[in-house]
Amino acid sequence: MSTTKSTSSNEVAPSPPAEPRPSNFIRDAMIADLNSKKYGDAVIQTRFPPEPNGYLHIGHAKAICLDFGLADEFKGKTNLRFDDTNPEKEEQEYVDSIMKDVRWLGFEWEGLFYASDYFDQLYEWAVKLIKDGKAYVDDLSAEEIRQHRGTLTEPGKESPYRNRSVEENLDLFERMRKGEFPDGTRVLRAKIDMASPNLNMRDPVMYRILHAEHHRTGDKWCIYPMYDYAHGQSDSIEHVTHSMCTLEFEDHRPLYNWFIQNLGIFPSQQYEFDRLSLTYTLLSKRRLLKLVQEKLVSGWDDPRMPTLSGIRRRGYTPEAIRNFCAAIGVSKTSGTLELAMLEHFVREDLNKRAPRVMAVLRPLKVVIDNYPDGQVEQMEAVNNPEDEAAGKRQVPFSKVLYIEQDDFREEPPKKYYRLSPGTEVRLRYGYFITAKSVVKNDKGEVVEVHCTYDPATRGGNAPDGRKVKSTIHWVSAEHAIDAEVRLYDKLFIKEDPNQVAEGQEFTANLDPNSLEVVEHAELEPSLANAPVESRYQFERLGYFCVDPDSRPGKPVFNRTVALKDTWARIEKRAGA
Ligand code: ATP
Ligand code: MG
Repeated sequence: MSTTKSTSSNEVAPSPPAEPRPSNFIRDAMIADLNSKKYGDAVIQTRFPPEPNGYLHIGHAKAICLDFGLADEFKGKTNLRFDDTNPEKEEQEYVDSIMKDVRWLGFEWEGLFYASDYFDQLYEWAVKLIKDGKAYVDDLSAEEIRQHRGTLTEPGKESPYRNRSVEENLDLFERMRKGEFPDGTRVLRAKIDMASPNLNMRDPVMYRILHAEHHRTGDKWCIYPMYDYAHGQSDSIEHVTHSMCTLEFEDHRPLYNWFIQNLGIFPSQQYEFDRLSLTYTLLSKRRLLKLVQEKLVSGWDDPRMPTLSGIRRRGYTPEAIRNFCAAIGVSKTSGTLELAMLEHFVREDLNKRAPRVMAVLRPLKVVIDNYPDGQVEQMEAVNNPEDEAAGKRQVPFSKVLYIEQDDFREEPPKKYYRLSPGTEVRLRYGYFITAKSVVKNDKGEVVEVHCTYDPATRGGNAPDGRKVKSTIHWVSAEHAIDAEVRLYDKLFIKEDPNQVAEGQEFTANLDPNSLEVVEHAELEPSLANAPVESRYQFERLGYFCVDPDSRPGKPVFNRTVALKDTWARIEKRAGA
């Protein structure tokens, strides 16, 4: 916990919140900077800087929750900035999906920018560095530059072109821009220190020649800035005060600062935090793209994908993801979290908000022999025991019902308390029934169970106080809605999907059984017109969400998550 100072009433400048919240080193830095007025009266300014070369995933959600969440907390602002310095891999489809996903998570940006908006300014600044003797055009090839770079234990070697005159550098850089040289023949490098212990400071490349169409600037440019040269300056242009990125950029921070200092521009400050990593999950756009391109999943929004569009389609809620991100916090050391923990937050949120319904995935017909033919009763059912305001609904009951095949055993094993010949069970919101006989098909499988019911047990209680050991769910056959239900399992069989045998690729770890399609599930009729993306708890089975593939008369449901909560058990054990 951090301590926050209380704000005086006449203060207009941004100030730390009065209420203490669980803190972290970045939040602490913001509080310190506000208190010391490091940026004067300016508000906290952050940015989320995705590269539009794929869809956002749950790892990005962590970054988004930090960037937007912290700025919101301090009444600051967050820009969405597309890092589009790499013309060859970027597409409008990705830009659109990223904006949609950020909004879906519940955040709205202040400014919408593209690194490419700054190409002119970046070019001018590069010219300034050349004039100051701090940048030079190098004719070495990429391979030669790599060889000159040295290693962690050996210093690098200076390029023979390092001491070109300012005039020559200005001329060559200008001609690079005009397109006089082919790709890869020259680069612009910062002139820093080839002996620096930090390899990023050994005269890093600032610009490369790339005769490629850019999705926004078209063919205006044939030289493109490198990430390290573009990123900090973009932050500075937007007056970003706290620029958050993942730990792998820690070693780039001295370079980030070097450019800002040598250009004498707004001093944005970079902070690095641990990347989210989850068991059984890959969070790399390159790998996810491969799954999509090779059609190993149905698309970026396949409900098994860890993309925000995938988990949205699966039924995860933005609230659950935000709660998860808040709970995991940030740190300076990376580790891998249990996928079960994310699922726990999804259950916890859906438990509060998802209406309960009855649905039978693998139907077995039950005929109640002593129930009047043609009679239909409306049974009152509670929509959500966690939320009284959700109210009640009517569920039709009749002579022929479906129950789960799993809920009947002709020869029950020990401790099997569900339906079996001679046992009495409760039908949820219905009656007590007792199984009397079965009908089998040619293969000897039970296809129908004949039962009797006790009319005195309507609603689920016996006036004589007798108890049953089990309550099972059901739907009325005549009223049931036929639905397709897609059951998902983990996409990969290995905790670390990157762990493969020699010569294999991560795709070898895909679980061939991660999708099971139930063609004909039977649902209670209240689900007839359930809108796409609406979420339910199918009693005793799990949480389910309506898929966009639904058609009138044939809804399609995705299983979001089953009811069993392994994470809650892990936590309980740890706490005990
Ligand atoms: P990928 O490796 O999936 O391609 P990336 O880092 O190249 O990811 P960007 O589009 O550059 O993707 O990421 C935008 C922001 O999201 C960056 O600030 C990055 O640090 C952050 N980010 C990306 N992946 C994660 C993750 N797994 N956990 C937390 N933050 C992440
Ligand atoms: Mg990146």
